[in-house]
Formats: sequence, C-alpha cells, structure tokens
Amino acid sequence: MSDLVFFPSGSEQQDRRNLLDFDASGLAAWFADMGEKPFRARQVLRWMHRSGASDFDAMTDLAKSLRQKLRTRAEIRPPVLRSDHFSEDGTRKFLFDVGNGNAVETVFIPEDDRGTLCISTQAGCALECAFCATGKQGFNRNLTTAEIIGQLWLANRALGAGLGGERVISNVVLMGMGEPLANFENSVTALRLMLDDNAYGLSRRRVTVSTVGLVPAIDRLREECPVALAVSLHAPSDALRDQLLPINRKYPLAELMAACHRYLERAPRDFITFEYIMLDGINDSEAQARELLALTSELPCKFNLIPFNPFPGVPFRRSQPERLRRFAEVLMSAGVVTTTRKTRGEDINAACGQLAGQVGNRMRRLVSRTYPLQEVHP
Ligand code: SAH
Repeated sequence: MSDLVFFPSGSEQQDRRNLLDFDASGLAAWFADMGEKPFRARQVLRWMHRSGASDFDAMTDLAKSLRQKLRTRAEIRPPVLRSDHFSEDGTRKFLFDVGNGNAVETVFIPEDDRGTLCISTQAGCALECAFCATGKQGFNRNLTTAEIIGQLWLANRALGAGLGGERVISNVVLMGMGEPLANFENSVTALRLMLDDNAYGLSRRRVTVSTVGLVPAIDRLREECPVALAVSLHAPSDALRDQLLPINRKYPLAELMAACHRYLERAPRDFITFEYIMLDGINDSEAQARELLALTSELPCKFNLIPFNPFPGVPFRRSQPERLRRFAEVLMSAGVVTTTRKTRGEDINAACGQLAGQVGNRMRRLVSRTYPLQEVHP
C-alpha cells in the first residue's frame, strides 16, 4: 500500500521493482529510464551480487538522493528461505517457498576441489519423465529471474561468501527442479549474472545447464549464452527413450545428437556431458552400453552415470553395483570418459530426482533449521 503513497503522479499502481530480476543490461536500461547513468547501475549490480547487499543504504558510494530514489522504487528481494537442511556428508539443502504451497530446492555439494550449487528453475516440471519425483508433482510455474539468481544470492550469504573470504560456490548447475530450457528467458538472464564479472564472475566452463533435450532451445542457448551443457540421455534407443522421457517423441535421438554437434561449435567445453540414470534391468545392459557407443560415436562426450534414487510409488530400482560397473567398463574400454555420480544428500532427500517441492514435505530432518523470514534476508 505504501507504494501508492510514493507514486502519486502515476495513474497506475506501481510496485517496487525487484532488482534481482535484472542482468547488467536490463539494470542499465532501468536506470536509464530513471535518468541515471549506466555506471550507477554497475555499482548497484556489484553491491547486490558481489557484496550480497539487500539494503540500498549499505551502498555507500551512491548519492543519498539516489539511495532514496531506489528505496522508493526498487527492492532486492530473493525467494523466501523456509528451511535449511544439513546432510551427514556435508551436502546442504535450502528449501524456498515460492507461494501457493509450492517449494523449490537448492542443493550445495561441497567437494575437495570445488563447491557446486544445484539450482532449480521451475516449481514442478511439465516433462513427466518416468523416473523423476519432480515430474510426478506436475508443473506449477516458471521461476522468475530473481527466484533463480536469488538461490545463488542467498546460498552465498548463508555459506558465508562475499565477505572477502574465498569463494565457496565455484560451480553452478541448473540441475535442480524443472527444465531450465523450458524457462529460457529467465534462466538465461540468471546465467548472464552468474558469468558477469560485476556479479558472480563464474567461468562458462563452471556453469552447466542440464536439459532433457529441447532441441530448438539448445540451439538458442548456443547463440545467446553458451555454457557447459549436460544432456539427460538415459536411453540408447528411441523406443526406450520415448517411454522414459516422453519429450523424446517430439525431439528424437537423431535430432538431439545433431543439436549436440551444433552446440559444440560454440560450447566452452569441447564435449557434451551425457547424464545416464541407471535403472535396474531397464537401460543398464552391456548391449545397451554398446548401443550408446554407436549412438555417440561421432560426438565428443563424457558419460555421467547416475545411480537411480528411488522415491515412493516409482516402479524402478537402482542398478546392481556389478551391472553398473560392467556398463561403465564397456564405455570406458571404448575410450569414453565415464564417471559414476556419487549419491549425495540422500538422508535429506536432496539427491537427484528426489526434489519434490511441497512446503513441509516428508523430509527427514537430521540437522535442520526452519527460518523465520527475517533471519536470513532482512
Ligand atoms: N530437466 C533437467 C534438469 C533437472 S533433472 C534435465 O532433465 O536434465 C537433473 C538430473 O537428475 C537429470 O539428469 C535427471 O534425469 C536426473 N534424475 C531425475 N530423477 C532422478 C532420480 N530419481 N534418480 C536419479 N537421477 C534423477
């Protein structure tokens, strides 16, 4: 209501603009509309993303009058952090409330040489992959740019970064809930902020988009914001992939492989990562590994085998370790780099495909905190 008081001249009601929705060029344009110079926008961008500021008064190198103007017209509003769960293995899961009873999750995975933040791009997902918990809940809505970049903004603060210490989050993967390329504009705006030296300054090689394989959007990403690409393959043939990932009926394997080839012309890494979830007796035979080799023989790629993470009501089982090992061996003996993903955060349901977004859901709480709003972002 107070906005009405602050904007008496306009005939329309005007909400404060959430500046987390802008990348550098968007912010510069918004500043220009206010009659402010581009370098002011750059200063604010740095304050928000490099220093984690949420309060215009903290931006001490801005004139008081500008700070006052910003206070009345703008805000810095990340998504609402509901809870924060710590796994025994160091994985940490943040649960954000995005309204209407929906939540999205962000997972921080510390490793010896890096810290990876796994970010969500949609509340729910429309793609209905047969093995994915997020797909089972259906699609709710696209996250805004502020909600996507806000996950990084808040995780950085919660992990104590931005205080002159070393970088805690060195890698970001858009691999949480949702399909990033189905929320293209907002995901790419957030990606630009991740890459921007005035914001998070991550290298393109350390930012990964994981996609189910939306072919036209892969081409668009290649033009607009090439970052590392991971493709959820999961099956070596159209017959099987059609069943596991219904989107394959629209963009079958031949088209997907062709899009991967085109992507590599611009990609910051010279390979595509194929994610391959290991489903017992479904897609994990040695013959299927050889089929995969034939499918990808022309394409520089790596395989990341993902042990299936079960959830209630799903008809699949995780592959036996011996089967997984033999499958990996077939790929590796053909010279294809193959890693098996270590399952992390299982005890807090933060593992791949276990991200189901209901506020107050069934998570076992090992060590967890529920925040009142103010505690993390004033
Ligand atoms: N929509 C994007 C990103 C989200 S899913 C994509 O499809 O790539 C991130 C990864 O987790 C994908 O490779 C997905 O196939 C995998 N995944 C989904 N459900 C899983 C489960 N139950 N166990 C293990 N991995 C799963």
